[in-house]
Amino acid sequence: MPRVAQVLVIDDDPTSARALKTAVEACGHAASIALTWTEAVRMFSRDAVDIVLMDAVMPTVDGYKLTQILRSRSRSYVPIVFTTGLNDMRARERCVAAGADDVLTKPVDPPELNLRLMAMLRIRKLTLELETRRGEMATIAMRDQLTGLQNRRSFDENLRNEIARARRYGRPLGLMVADIDHFKKVNDTMGHDLGDELLQQLGHLMMSQVRAPDMAFRYGGEEFVILTPETESTLALNLAERVRLGFKTRSASLSTGSQTLSIGLADTSMLTGEITGRQLFKIADAALYEAKRSGRNRVCVAKSQGDPMATTQPGDGDENDRGES
Ligand code: GH3
Ligand code: MG
Ligand code: MG
Repeated sequence: MPRVAQVLVIDDDPTSARALKTAVEACGHAASIALTWTEAVRMFSRDAVDIVLMDAVMPTVDGYKLTQILRSRSRSYVPIVFTTGLNDMRARERCVAAGADDVLTKPVDPPELNLRLMAMLRIRKLTLELETRRGEMATIAMRDQLTGLQNRRSFDENLRNEIARARRYGRPLGLMVADIDHFKKVNDTMGHDLGDELLQQLGHLMMSQVRAPDMAFRYGGEEFVILTPETESTLALNLAERVRLGFKTRSASLSTGSQTLSIGLADTSMLTGEITGRQLFKIADAALYEAKRSGRNRVCVAKSQGDPMATTQPGDGDENDRGES
């Protein structure tokens, strides 16, 4: 954050606006002018504004209303200072109650303006630091450290959003649940570190195979999920097979030797009752269970609720498919 602030002067009176702009520039900051509220909203969203100096009383939309509009449009907190010709305490109180951080009386005294801008810039700087930090924390909270994939928390949030979208627009949403076969044995016989390496490999593989809008997550332990918006299971089957075969091929070059995955697939078109994330997960998980039960190392597609499931046979394409294109 520079010591120079980008100040947006909002005033319907051009003479008053220009005087304020000159005063701001004399304090060593940069200033731009908006004479109408629409112009103010446009400039506020377009430019990186650090401080707003706003006339409290303007025609059509006054400073009180405009403050609400600007605040609702910005994710970042920008200090707003009202300028007003009214000097009584009630009027100043009204300004602060409406969301102003400070109030300056017109005509603005230059040394006074300089002081207020210094203080507001400090608030802006500290707030920006907090906002950046909050963003970093949110990113960390959503990521799985071992694999670099998004984690369970992020999956829950994305599933909620995607289910809402699927319901609203009547679009399909696919879900793939993958689980490493006999992973406990890898840990037990070859050690936890090699187990971790295998998980990382699967994470890399998923990242390389998944293209937007599809999203891959580590659900927990050795269980991974992929959300495929706009996709029915028949299409997601290709992706699932690529992941299954890719994992087999990649793991073969690790010290663990070749390992396998079982995968369950489902999509919202299979749900007969209400479309919920819980229901979708339930039938995908049931398909995974079926893949495990019928011998592992295979993809199992859930059919509509209540119907039997379709399963790819173990070894399908395993000999000649590289799995990673
Ligand atoms: P199945 O084929 O039925 O899936 O058997 P499995 O052995 O893969 O499944 P099980 O649920 O019995 O074992 C999962 C193991 O995964 C047990 C747990 O210690 C291990 N695990 C979970 N998280 C991690 C991790 O972060 N790193 C390592 N190395 N192991 C983990
Ligand atoms: Mg397992
Ligand atoms: Mg498991």
